[in-house]
Amino acid sequence: MIKYKLACKNCNLTFDSWFASSYEYEKLKKKKLLNCHNCNSNDVDKTLMAPKIMNNIYNRKFQEESQNVKSIKKILKEYQKFIKNNLRYVGKNFAYEARSIYYSDKKEQKGIYGSASKKDLKELKEEGIEAEIIPWIEDKNN
Ligand SMILES: [Zn+2]
Repeated sequence: MIKYKLACKNCNLTFDSWFASSYEYEKLKKKKLLNCHNCNSNDVDKTLMAPKIMNNIYNRKFQEESQNVKSIKKILKEYQKFIKNNLRYVGKNFAYEARSIYYSDKKEQKGIYGSASKKDLKELKEEGIEAEIIPWIEDKNN
């Protein structure tokens, strides 16, 4: 099973929908069997993944708080692994790349991750570009 966030281009509604596979999704779309439950339009498509941000807020205090932190670190590492495998790294160009995805018509399947300043984040938010901040642990701290 695979879950896609779908968006109706007619009424701008977004909703989640489950499919047996990505192939099934393509099949339904081709046959025009995907429709919006709000306005019944067939102009429904997968939405872009929201751009993700990593922010290096790792600090020494966090490092020193023992046991509990170890399990948190483990979870964060799993999350980082997922991000590295699924998103495109853009480094310090995050704000620029997020904008070019947001304002471009071409569909980019992959989300992006990188670092951005507080000011960048504020500006992106004002433009309606959603980004998610997660703490980031450097690999060398094993
Ligand atoms: Zn609709």
